[in-house]
Formats: sequence, structure tokens, C-alpha cells
Amino acid sequence: MIKIAKFGGSSVADAEHFKKIRAIVEADPARRFVVVSACGRRHSGDAKVTDLLYLVAAHVRYHVSCDDLLADIGQRYFDIADELGLAYPIRDEFAAFADTARSGAYSTEELVSRGEYFTAQLMAEYLGLPFLDAADVVAFHHDGTLSMTRTEALVQERGIPGGFVMPGFYGATREGQIKLLDRGGGDISGSILAKCLGADLYENWTDVSGFLSADPRVVANPQPISRVTYSELRELSYMGASVLHEEAVFPVMEAGIPIAVKNTNRPEDPGTVISDRENYVASEPIITGVTGKKNFVAVHVLKDHMSNEVGIIRRTLSIFERYHVSVEHIPSGIDSFAVVVQGDDVKDCIWSIVADIKTEVAPDGIKVVDDLSLISTVGRNMIGRPGVSGQLFAALGNEGISIRMIAQGSDEINIIVGVHRDDFEHAIRAIYRAFSDGDHLLELKDLKKAEEDARPRVADADEKE
Ligand code: ASP
Repeated sequence: MIKIAKFGGSSVADAEHFKKIRAIVEADPARRFVVVSACGRRHSGDAKVTDLLYLVAAHVRYHVSCDDLLADIGQRYFDIADELGLAYPIRDEFAAFADTARSGAYSTEELVSRGEYFTAQLMAEYLGLPFLDAADVVAFHHDGTLSMTRTEALVQERGIPGGFVMPGFYGATREGQIKLLDRGGGDISGSILAKCLGADLYENWTDVSGFLSADPRVVANPQPISRVTYSELRELSYMGASVLHEEAVFPVMEAGIPIAVKNTNRPEDPGTVISDRENYVASEPIITGVTGKKNFVAVHVLKDHMSNEVGIIRRTLSIFERYHVSVEHIPSGIDSFAVVVQGDDVKDCIWSIVADIKTEVAPDGIKVVDDLSLISTVGRNMIGRPGVSGQLFAALGNEGISIRMIAQGSDEINIIVGVHRDDFEHAIRAIYRAFSDGDHLLELKDLKKAEEDARPRVADADEKE
């Protein structure tokens, strides 16, 4: 049994958290492969080491002294090492790093990567596991993209079978030039490693007990999600829920390895398991979660007899493509359609796009609606279950919320509604309420019961005759 345990920034913020991690790792002999982020915030208002390192890089670039900054960063590592009595020569190593940083000899990527490097060095000693440098196994192409094939070969060749601690977030090219993944990319490193080692489980340890079925700032006490499929998670995180880096799903998904999102501060909490098991479980909620995003823009294009004209949608879309704007939805009618895009993507070019549509498509009318919010109700259990969308629309209708757009993904795992931005929170609460009994989300068995209650019983029918 192999488990990859990845600990995020808040989980390695200080010596107290290192102790929690050791207890977690020692509690399960399968947890021998550990990936760590750089030290994160110890409390609200604190800074993440990675952010501070980016700041150091900026100071160096503009020839501004960063001695205080470097001293603060160093102190965080010294405190951990001192409190845990570690022998790793962190003061010497950090001094050498600080000198090179000041001299301007590091690339920004290499400088920033030292955050995870030092964390992993200390963690390796504390856990009694060898240190494996990500630069030796996580392989990048020169253009900064990851080489999965070479990474797999290197992990086979250099990965220590008995276990190790590896820094997340970075890797290197063939020539040893350090490259970084996206911000928050330690999650991706863990996922890559899980795939390369053929792990049974990828544990992602963070400071929350998994995913919640709604944003707690909008819905009071939303129920935690105990299980979610990879595609549901893609929908939920794309639309707002952010616990795990979006890209972290792909390597393990391809390999069919489940992910468990767990809380380092409350390891006994069940957390969320992400896997592709899709069988029917009566005690599962009907919906998995409700989430949403504000600030969408819909460009409505109207033209009489549009349905007889070939190529009009293609011509409109090619204009968006020209401006490098990604299209989210295209709800359409007989003589009109709309192109829905993210507001931020068109803030500088929306009027150029409209002008181009006018000349190249010659519509009868064009209307820009810029106060659209999208709400996505996600749930694998909605598939093929009549009445769910009815319940959702009725909930919004009963609250007097007008629906401006409807879209359902072809895989039927989500229903997206567009509402005015002022109705955003209200609509999320209304949908959540429609699928919960106040305390808990309604389960499939409740739906069955409701269906049965609604069905006239044979005896009733007889009585009426
Ligand atoms: N330390 C990096 C960041 O803050 C990567 C990570 O934590 O996953 O973005």
C-alpha cells in the first residue's frame, strides 16, 4: 500500500505543525512518501514564505536592499529547526542562499523554489526519511511545461522505494535549470508523484476538512462533501470552490488514483474523497454542491431568420477568438444567440468585439449584458433523475429570482443558471435550501420517498371509484 501525503503551506507553517505531521505520518505505515510546500501563514495577517521570496526577487532586480526580508524568512526556518532540535545546518545553508540571492545570481524561479527546498530538508530530518530533490526527478521542457514521460522514468530510477520527502512546486530541465509549476502547484507535484509511483491514494493535507457543499460565507454551515467525482470537482473548482489546485486532478485521474483532502489540524475528520466510483448509494446527497461566479458578460446577437443562415455563429465566435477570449456558453434561440464570457477577459476589448460583430455579422440587433452571475448546481446523482431541475427552478421562482440563462452540461452533472449579480447570494441560498432539510442535504433515498409519497396509491384510487 502506497500513500502520497502532500502537506500544504499552512500545514508546515511552524514547529507545532511539523509535530502534527509527524503524528499523521507515524499513524500509518503506508505514508512514506511526503511532499511539502514552503511554510505558509502562521496566523491571519502573516505572510507566506513564497510571497516573501518573490518580494526578495523584486528587491534584487531593482537593487533595493532586502536584508530585513531575508532575515525574516531565515528566522522562520531557524525557529522550526531550533524548536525541534534539528541538526540540518540551516543557518549556514540559509546564509549561503541569502548571499547568492543578494548577488543576483539566481533566476527568480530558483530563488523562489528554495522555500520548499528548505522546508523539505527540515521535514526529512524530522520524519527520519531521506530528502529527494524535486530538481532530480520532476522534469521540465525548456518552455516550462512538464515532461511526464521523463519524470516517470526519473522517479523509477531515483525514487527511494522505502520513502522520502520531496519539495513540491518545482522541478528542473535536463540542464538543471529550476522551473516552477503554477502558484499553489505543490498539489500538482503530489499528484505527479502519486501517478509515477502507482500510489493507492493521494492524500492532500490542508487546513480545511475537505470541500464544502457551498461557500460558508453565503450559506450558513454548509454540509461537507464526503465524496466527489473528478469531473464534479472540475465543475466545482472552475466555478469557485478552491481547496486543491485545478490541475492537480489530471495526473491521478488518468491513473485512477483517488485523492483524499484532509485537515492536518483535525486528522480524525473524514475529509473529502475524490474518486470515480459512480454507483448508486441511497445515503448520498442528491446534489453535491452549489457554487458560482460573478462578473460574466453576455453578448446577445439577434437576426431575423438566423436559423436559415449558415455560419453566423462561427463568424461571431471567430471574432472572440481573434481577441483571445475564451467562450463559456452559447445559449441560443431561433433568431438569436448569446455568447457568454468572463468579464475580466473582455474588459478592454468588449467594444472592439461589438464593432467587429456589427461589420462582419451584420445582425439586426446586438445587446451587451454585463451584470450576469452564473450559479452551478453540481451533482453526479442528478443524472437521469427527473424532477431535479424542476425543483431547482421552482426554488428560484418561489423566491422571485428571475433566471436569465440556463445551461446543462451534456454529461448532466451540472445545471447552470445565470442571474442578475444582485440575486447571486440569494439564489445560491434558495437552491441549497431546496435540496436540504435545514441541517443536511437531502439524500437519494429522500427523493425516492418523495416520489412514492406523490404517487397515488392503488387503494386511494379504488376508494375514489
Ligand atoms: N509555495 C507555493 C505557493 O505558495 C506552492 C504551493 O504552496 O503549493 O504558491
